[in-house]
Amino acid sequence: MKLVIATNNQGKVREIKEMLTPLGYEPISLKDAGIEIEVVEDGETFAENAHKKAAAVYEICRCPVIADDSGLEVDFLGGAPGIYSARYAGENATDEQRVQKILDELDGVDMSMRTARFVCSIYCILDDDTEYSVRGTLEGHIGTEPLGENGFGYDPIFMVDEDTSVAMLPPEEKNRISHRASAIRQLTEILSKAEK
Ligand code: IMP
Repeated sequence: MKLVIATNNQGKVREIKEMLTPLGYEPISLKDAGIEIEVVEDGETFAENAHKKAAAVYEICRCPVIADDSGLEVDFLGGAPGIYSARYAGENATDEQRVQKILDELDGVDMSMRTARFVCSIYCILDDDTEYSVRGTLEGHIGTEPLGENGFGYDPIFMVDEDTSVAMLPPEEKNRISHRASAIRQLTEILSKAEK
């Protein structure tokens, strides 16, 4: 089944392709589908934003679409950056600047209070009558300095154990444990049952 991935974030495209291709799906990026679109993410939840993105792309291609809205929730910051994860340090900031902002906000905060989670909502539209919504999470804590070269976004400061950041994991390992992997697994289970 061909599935258009409704995101311009190349890190997400890469991970979703790595996870769905071995399962027999044919994920296509917006770029490869020839679709140029910027969806305003003004929903109040990850799920609402994922729905908006999927619906906007489905309107154009009228073909199976999945959209991911994801981000980081830091407990000490009351759940921030949350749905604002992509623009947390301003519209044109870099991943490095967003990472530094979180590190500054947690400066001096004890390790026991640095708990956080990655959240991923995926919305899938197959046709006019078939839509699914799933949500995956990855629990961890925020480190005190960026570590590792892999992944994207907040991966260098998201620690899965005392001394391992997500950016230190090989891609296969991130794709096994991540919030996105969990959501994709739930979705593919639903899709395989729906196909039968
Ligand atoms: P959006 O879903 O396009 O609004 O952006 C989500 C933002 O959350 C990304 O730009 C990253 O900053 C962050 N994010 C989402 N998933 C991950 C991940 O797997 N690793 C690190 N950062 C992530």
